[in-house]
Formats: sequence, structure tokens, C-alpha cells
Amino acid sequence: MELLGTVREIRQAVKAARLAGKRVGLVPTMGYLHDGHLSLMREARQASDFVVVSIFVNPTQFGPNEDLSRYPRDLDRDLALCAAVPVDAVFHPEVGDVYPQPFLTSVRVAKLTEGLCGASRPGHFEGVATVVAKLFNIVRPDVAFFGQKDAQQLAVIRRMALDLNLDDIAIRAVPTAREADGLAMSSRNVYLSPPERQAALVLSRALKAAGEQVAGGIRDMAALADSVRAQIAAEPLADIDYVSIVDYDTLQPLERLEHGRALAAVAVRFGKTRLIDNCILEAQ
Ligand code: AMP
Repeated sequence: MELLGTVREIRQAVKAARLAGKRVGLVPTMGYLHDGHLSLMREARQASDFVVVSIFVNPTQFGPNEDLSRYPRDLDRDLALCAAVPVDAVFHPEVGDVYPQPFLTSVRVAKLTEGLCGASRPGHFEGVATVVAKLFNIVRPDVAFFGQKDAQQLAVIRRMALDLNLDDIAIRAVPTAREADGLAMSSRNVYLSPPERQAALVLSRALKAAGEQVAGGIRDMAALADSVRAQIAAEPLADIDYVSIVDYDTLQPLERLEHGRALAAVAVRFGKTRLIDNCILEAQ
């Protein structure tokens, strides 16, 4: 496995792989890897011949009062996990190499970024779309892997790829990896105190119950969102940012789900830690 720290080096490595006829897979991450990231890498291993994992804590997707400076990092541990999959290359650039100064360009996907996390994290998805567009251009993968855990991010990236004619890059969604007790894996889970960690289980519990309600024939999404909100609000350590049920593709609020797919999405603070989770609701 190669560790490559510059845009020039990763471009050379990918070029060599492509000349050898290999299909290139990309897994973008911010590091501090867990089993969720590893499931993306394993999918990439299956679906491509040259797997690139990027590890880059992207400053432009953090707001001024967010956790950029204390975002957890452990490159040595990350490299050992990547080597065990195994992947072929880890791209770990410096901020200055990714964002030469002055940096004047950004990618903004309208509408899809207005609700859910976009409402409380202004500029976040602009940072995400911009860095993913850059990674797509640097690596030029045949296929890129993203977690369903960040469902809005996935929708934004799919739209960006379509709108900017990056449609020769296939985008694959990978289901959310969870701890045995249901908590969605996240690099931010390390911030949780033991009581917060226990309280956070309410998210997966409430979302699972919502899925069961829809499977049982419930079609009123506004009432269902109220019921999910009430379950989460009953947990004293939970401070709700949003609980929404939206159309899966447009991310617009949904009153009723008669057929097709909806997304139940939540963002909730436990102490200083903001967690997100979601589940896909499906009606036949
Ligand atoms: P991050 O390092 O948090 O930016 O995440 C990098 C990629 O891993 C994104 O595509 C995430 O959606 C994905 N990811 C994060 N947590 C999980 C999880 N629990 N299950 C599946 N994918 C995940």
C-alpha cells in the first residue's frame, strides 16, 4: 500500500494503475476510521482493482463554531486499518496542497442543501461538494463509495456529479454500519460520555420503529415524524436539531408516502456532540 501526500503523487499512481487496465475505486474519508469506513473500503475492494482511500479533514466543510480543531485524528491507526483491507493507495494531502491560496472557486448545489443539516450548518455542503469535486478531478475514479449514513451528502454528490457531467464516475451507496446495540458508527462517537452514549441509542430505536410503522401500513409521514420526535424528546439528554421525513430524491418534506421511498432523518445533540442518523422508508 502506498501512502501519497501530494496531488502529483496520487495522479501518477492512478495513471500507472489505469495504464495497467485497472478499474479505480475511491473512498473519500476524513480519517479516524471505523467499521463504517471499512465497509466502504471492502465494497471498493470487490468492485474495483485499484482502491484509493483519501484521508483529509476538509476545513471548508466545518463552520466557525464546529469541531475542526478537535476533530479526532490517528493516521498510524488509520493506515494499519487500510493496509488490512487491503487498499492500494492512501491519499493524505496537506490543506495547502488541496487549497492553494487564494482559493476562489466553490461548488454549490442548490435546494438539496437548504433543509436538514444544511439549515443548521450553513456552508457545510458547499465545502463537501467542492472537496469531492476536487477529489473526483484529482483521482478520476471509475467508481466512488459513500455511506448511506450521510444521506443528504449522498444526494448532494449524486446531483453534483449529474449537473457537472461527472457522470462517468459511478456513485455507490453503502448501508450504514452500526454498533451491536444499534448506534450508527461515527468518528464523533468518541466524544460521547457513557450516559450520552447510552442515551444516543434512542435515535436508532426511534428510526427502526418508524420503519416498522411504514411496513405496517402507516402513510401519514407528518404524524410519523411527530411520533419519532416525541420518542427522541422523551430522552432527557437529547437536544433535537431536526427530525424530518422527506422525499428520498428531492429531500423535500413529505406529508404522505403512498409509494416509493422516503428518508427519515434526524440530527440530535448529546452534550456537545451532534449526531445524525436516518433510515429509508419504503411503501409498495
Ligand atoms: P467521514 O470520514 O465521516 O467524512 O465519512 C467518510 C465516508 O464514510 C462517508 O461517505 C460517510 O457517509 C461514510 N460513513 C461514515 N459513517 C458510516 C457508517 N456508520 N456506515 C457507513 N458509512 C459511513
